[in-house]
Amino acid sequence: MRIGHGYDVHKVDPAKNYVILGGVKIPCAFGLLAHSDGDVLLHAVADALLGAAGLRDIGSLFPDTDEKYRDVSSVVLLREVMRRVRSGGLEVEYLDATLIAQRPKLSPYVEEIRSTLARELEISVERCNIKATTEEGLGFTGRGEGIAAHAVCLLREKG
Ligand code: MG
Repeated sequence: MRIGHGYDVHKVDPAKNYVILGGVKIPCAFGLLAHSDGDVLLHAVADALLGAAGLRDIGSLFPDTDEKYRDVSSVVLLREVMRRVRSGGLEVEYLDATLIAQRPKLSPYVEEIRSTLARELEISVERCNIKATTEEGLGFTGRGEGIAAHAVCLLREKG
């Protein structure tokens, strides 16, 4: 077994009216500022996978200075990460992730995010846990300045 951890933050963009989290488009009073689609959860998940596979991080794989990745769907980036995980002889055993946002209210979307991620990671939903929390009005997430995500995963070597 290998263990990996990922963390990401994106800043609020008041000019947009939706966020994409875990590949799911969620109507919102703001969006997230990013070179890609700003899917902070998929970025944390991708970094957890790369961490467990010993493949550094998404910043080195998909540089935000590269025009090729402007407004790219993070699902496309995650699929490339999964391709590399598989070609390293590894597969996902379990994922647990936490979204931290004061707004929007995420609980109505958690199950859809969970099934989307489980499909991308090629695991059952029972092996893919997604949580959402606020930080009680404290810090940058509490003030609504950004959204953060943490992810931990286990990879196993294919037998
Ligand atoms: Mg990011």
